[in-house]
Amino acid sequence: MPVPEQAGYRCTQPAKDSEMKVKQDKTYRLLKKKHIIPSIIGMLLTIVLLAVLATVLAGAIIGYVMDDKIEAEYKSVSEMVRIYDYNEKSGSKYAFEELAGPERDYIVVDKDNNPLTVKGENTCSFKGGEVSGVDESFKVLVYFDNDDTYVYIDDEETLSLKTGKLFKKIWKDLASDSDPSDEKDETRIPFWISQPLADGERSLVVKCNFAVKQRDVFIVAVLVALAAIVLFALFIVSFVKIIKRFLAQRKLMNLFFTDNTTEGRNWMWFVLKSGQTLGKKKNNKNNYAILNVDFVKYNNYCVCHSVEEGERALKSINEMIERTLDKKELCARKGDSSFAVMMQYNDEAKLKNRVGNLVNVLEGIDQVHRFGFHVGVRTLPFKILENKSYASRKGISVENEYSNACVASASLENSDESGIALFDEKLIEEQIWIDAVTERQQKAVANEEFVVYYQPKYDPNTNELRGAEALIRWESPEFGFVTPGRIIPIFEKNGFITEIDHYMISHVARDQKKWLDAGYKCVPVSVNVSRAHFIESNLAEQIRDMVDKEGAPRNLIEIELTESAFFDDKKALVTTISKLKEYGFAVSMDDFGAGYSSLNSLKDLPLDVLKLDAEFFRGENEGERGEIVVSEAIKLAKSLNMRTVAEGVEVKEQVEFLANQGCDMIQGFYFAKPMPKDEYEGRMKEGVAGDLGVTAKEDKASEEKAE
Ligand code: C2E
Ligand code: MG
Ligand code: MG
Repeated sequence: MPVPEQAGYRCTQPAKDSEMKVKQDKTYRLLKKKHIIPSIIGMLLTIVLLAVLATVLAGAIIGYVMDDKIEAEYKSVSEMVRIYDYNEKSGSKYAFEELAGPERDYIVVDKDNNPLTVKGENTCSFKGGEVSGVDESFKVLVYFDNDDTYVYIDDEETLSLKTGKLFKKIWKDLASDSDPSDEKDETRIPFWISQPLADGERSLVVKCNFAVKQRDVFIVAVLVALAAIVLFALFIVSFVKIIKRFLAQRKLMNLFFTDNTTEGRNWMWFVLKSGQTLGKKKNNKNNYAILNVDFVKYNNYCVCHSVEEGERALKSINEMIERTLDKKELCARKGDSSFAVMMQYNDEAKLKNRVGNLVNVLEGIDQVHRFGFHVGVRTLPFKILENKSYASRKGISVENEYSNACVASASLENSDESGIALFDEKLIEEQIWIDAVTERQQKAVANEEFVVYYQPKYDPNTNELRGAEALIRWESPEFGFVTPGRIIPIFEKNGFITEIDHYMISHVARDQKKWLDAGYKCVPVSVNVSRAHFIESNLAEQIRDMVDKEGAPRNLIEIELTESAFFDDKKALVTTISKLKEYGFAVSMDDFGAGYSSLNSLKDLPLDVLKLDAEFFRGENEGERGEIVVSEAIKLAKSLNMRTVAEGVEVKEQVEFLANQGCDMIQGFYFAKPMPKDEYEGRMKEGVAGDLGVTAKEDKASEEKAE
């Protein structure tokens, strides 16, 4: 048995719950904050910082050591100068030679650095300058050694070492030496310190050394290697951590943005991504369209197969849509069986073509069943502003635009066939109207705003009043006079139609009772009962009780069923019709010939009246072939013992033709339009009651007879 679709839009409306949205946004931002790139940058920065720190520290230590050594050498040279001066004064050289020792080379020079006395080898370059210690407690004139390429004076006038070269040399020395732990093994870096002698005319230039112990260098090298290993380990640990976090984050992101059923993207992702795409400045000159693709009758499919099968179908649909999209286009499942899609397009005709092709492909997904899809399209073309720049779409509400696409697809919901609808503002008006009606319907019943109009049915041979049809009108204080075409489809969708049908039956029964009591010659009045109402198993009892409650004779009420209702559960229909007949009501088939042929239904259903649809008497059906069909339909009804009513008859010729064919009644503008109660009362007064007309007296007589 087919399952009725839910009333209202089939597509799920965008979440109105803003709290939920705020929560989702927060979670996303939280995830984004934990993004991987900042972590990598952080890790690299830490490592670089550590390396710089180590270098600066090492530099500072070297600087300090150098200062220390220069200071020591300076002190020693100062002492030598003092003794040299003293010895010269006393005439003894012994003490000085003793102090200088065999390793201390020195030169006594005049003002122009011309050597006067040379002890040892003169390798002084006399190039250099004045340098100071860290605390500037001393200043000293330093000359480089001829052999030396290891020291230089930097911008701040301190003596510095070319560390790289120095280490190379030490390394070489180390390699050639047998035992680095040997305390005596050291590398010497020569330089000369010059100090003026007491006469002010000469200076003593003494060869000094930085003595670097190889054992110390060895320890430093080991320490540096250890530090490098620690740094490397730190790098590896951080790297592994980052990779792990990256993977976990990706997993979480996927979970957050994945639809459980289709394993594709979810609505949250769609809103985010489409918002980002539309908001980008470079996309301002592109046309975009947001689509709602609705899988028609998904619930029926699930009932007929299984929910698992249904979900598998949804998955295939999602995959298929994704396959047809370009890289930068988006697709996500929105609700039960709805998909949100964002496409880019150049011109609308091509877009329509593309959407049409998409529908074709989707229809053929299942080899056995042909699926149906309703696609609503909301176009978002680029706009050029007065200053000739492209309008920005930043801050656009994707939810609202999708909702518009939903409104467009909902306009197709009366059909099960696939279709494409473009959104236009009129659809919004329609939606506003639907909402307004739905909001006011209950109050309108309570305030008796719905009124019954009667459209008389006449005998085409005698022009006598033979019956009438009750048709609803809404005399709304807000909207004025509203015809059924504007409200009945809404009530049918939102389920209020059952209440309306009750309302009409009760009011017609009340009127009939009142007219009978007032002595009018009453004729049967037919009331439309919606197809949705026929699902209720006790419908016949409900109608019986309502009519009885008003005290109207049952044979003055006829129940009209539209032809389309005959496609529903036939067994239930036969039961209800049979019961209605048993209770004394006549039952008619309305709009016969309007939809699919229901000739077969005529065979099974015990109906009293066949109402030929107005379409028979309009446009295309006119002419000889139309007449043949009408006359055969009348013959068929007669042979099945059914009375016939021709609806929508507007011209005399049609009345004459129908009279000739033996049509029992005419309901059409030719005789009368639907009219308010008091006008209809006039018609009753005018019309001579025919065979089917009954007066209160006759009604009483028939009741007595029945008893
Ligand atoms: P229907 O039951 O087939 O009613 C006949 C419709 O044809 C009425 O339209 C009537 O005004 C119109 N009509 C009759 N003769 C002519 C004619 O010669 N020319 C033209 N152009 N139209 C003619 P109305 O009153 O607008 O009702 C439209 C439909 O709304 C009805 O079709 C019925 O399906 C539904 N409806 C009306 N009242 C009710 C109600 O109380 N309950 C339910 N469930 N449906 C109702
Ligand atoms: Mg009707
Ligand atoms: Mg009709």
